Formats: sequence, C-alpha cells, structure tokens
Amino acid sequence: MEITIKPAAPGNLKPKPRDESALGFGKIFTDHMFVMNYTSERGWHDPSIIPYGPFSLDPATMCLHYGQEIFEGMKAYHGSDGSIYLFRPSDNIDRMNRSAERLCMPTMDPELFMEALKKLILMEQDWIPHGRGTSLYIRPTMIATEVALGVHPSDSYLFYIILCPVGAYYPEGFNPTKIYVSDTYTRTAPGGVGECKAAGNYAASLYASREASRLGYTQVLWLDALTRSRPEEVGTSNIFFVVNGRLVTPPLEGTILPGITRDSVIKLARSWGIEVEERRLSMDEIIDMLSSGELTEIFASGTAAVVSPVGLFNYRGREYEINGGSVGPLTERLYNEILRIQYGEGEDIFGWRVRIGP
Ligand SMILES: *Cc1c(COP(=O)(O)O)cnc(C)c1O
Repeated sequence: MEITIKPAAPGNLKPKPRDESALGFGKIFTDHMFVMNYTSERGWHDPSIIPYGPFSLDPATMCLHYGQEIFEGMKAYHGSDGSIYLFRPSDNIDRMNRSAERLCMPTMDPELFMEALKKLILMEQDWIPHGRGTSLYIRPTMIATEVALGVHPSDSYLFYIILCPVGAYYPEGFNPTKIYVSDTYTRTAPGGVGECKAAGNYAASLYASREASRLGYTQVLWLDALTRSRPEEVGTSNIFFVVNGRLVTPPLEGTILPGITRDSVIKLARSWGIEVEERRLSMDEIIDMLSSGELTEIFASGTAAVVSPVGLFNYRGREYEINGGSVGPLTERLYNEILRIQYGEGEDIFGWRVRIGP
C-alpha cells in the first residue's frame, strides 16, 4: 500500500518552539499526523499523512463508550552525529499488534507501520529537539470507530500516529522519586489486560495516583491483585531492585507491561556480568533487605524517563529511604549507557538503534 501525503498549507504551519528547556511533555504537537482506516470489508486502507487536526466522531462511536483503544509510546532522537534514530521500533510495533489481538482489534503489517513512522518523522524532522535528553515522542494509537451501542468488537477502526517534541526528563540531573505503595487499589489482575497498552488500564489507575499525589508522592507502587503484597510496577513504568549486587525484577506473567526499556536493562546488565533474576519480591522481604543493607537501589524503567531512581517509599504509613535518598551507581550506569546508545554515540552491540535519516 502506498502512503499518500497531503501536506499542510505553508501558511498553516505552526511556529516551532524556541526554548527546548520549556518543552515539557505531551503539550505541543507537530504539523502532520499519519492516519489509516480499517473496515471488516476492506481491511486496512488509505494510509496517509495529513495535517494534524481534530477528528469528527459520532457521539455513539464505540471507543468513547467501551474503551476499545490501544496505544504505544516511543521516541525519535537527534543523534550527536546529526542522524535521526529510533530505539528498538520493531518491539513497539510487535507489542502494539499483541495489544490489538488481546483487545479484538485488527493487527497491522509491521513493514507498513515502520514505513509510516519513518515517513512521518522525516517529514517532521525539524521538530526534533537537539539537546541531549530531548526527543520527539511518538504516539501510535488505535480506536474503535463503529457507530453503535452494545458491547461487541467494533467492525471499523482508525489507526493514527501523532508526534510531540519533549524536553529532557532530568534537565538538572537525577531527581529521585517518592513512591506511595498502594495496598488498597490495584492496576490489573491475572487474566486481565495489564500486559497491553490498553487505554482503560490508565483510567483505572488515576484514583490511586491522585491519592498518592495529594499525600505528596510522585508515583504509585502497584502491588499484585492476588496477595496485595508483591510489587509489580511503579506508575507507568517497570520496577527493578538491586539486591546484593544483582538485579531483581518481577516476571512477566500477564499483569505487567513488557517494557522495552525493562528488556534493555536486563540485557545490558547481563552483558556486564550482572546477574538478573525475574522473581517476585514481597514488601516484607524488601523491608528486611533494606534494613540489612542487602537492598541498595530501586529504580523504575520506561521510555519517558529511561530509568528513574526511587529515593523513598511509603508503605502502610511509614517511610523507607533507599540509598540515603540518592541515585545508586547501577541506576546511573544503566541510564548513561541507554542514552549513549539512543543518541548514536559509539557501539550498539545489540543493534537496538535504527537510523532513519536524514
Ligand atoms: C509503557 C509502559 C511501561 C514501559 O514500557 P517501555 O516500553 O519501557 O516504555 C511500563 N509499564 C506500563 C504500565 C506502561 O504503560
């Protein structure tokens, strides 16, 4: 399928943000977007790049009622060598197709998906900020578009990709986060859709996040729904513990989003000779190992922040500090190494970065 391009009229192009330090996250969008439609009769059709702008949706459009909606999150980077890079894009494409299957939505041709990403990003390359740590955030999204009430899989879908320039996550160095352990609310349960980037998971997380934020914490640490005692994720990131010099992270058993950063952390650590265990830890074990000095670092991993050190957590009304509230050495080493690869500096032994231009 050919991707048609309808560029915005020159007079309608938005001014590019001048101050990279004021970009923030998810507020500014570029001039164009990729769109493609699906119907059960025609399959996917009419892939095109068009001016960024609102959709007109019938009030009975199914995604607005039953949440049949999935998305992805990835980034394009301006390398130190002037090239534009993506980081493991085929993993995001595969994951979106897995989310689609679980939500009874149509999967996409990975090659067409990749071509759409490349074409759109190259067209919008002047929007990619240059500073280290800045990037162009990419949000592929799929929504159910059948106009009908009644819970059933939609017979039509819209897939689109939008882009936004985002600032450096840590402009003034690492900021260890304060985490609130929720043993009241859970994010997902066995048999659910926790391993998908499905919109409803995030709606369901808001109440606990707002409570944590009101109490002065940055993120919620989610415990497993079965026992409410074993950490699974933090906010919208995966979680890692450094125990006796080893990395420990909960296994992917359906309730945890299989993060691409998580996988990168595991592979990098193993390549450095650091043992990685995918096993569940309980809050009791964690607190014991903190007081014995065996647990030395906790960090979250995800595309937005790469790795985010946890400085302290609140569990049942008590605060526990990790590594004196400052960034641990392994957290910092992983952060620097992943950034180095993403920004095109030096070796990339795993072949993770994909140069798409200029
Ligand atoms: C996206 C996401 C992650 C991180 O995945 P990455 O591929 O590393 O960005 C972790 N947990 C949740 C719930 C997520 O939505």
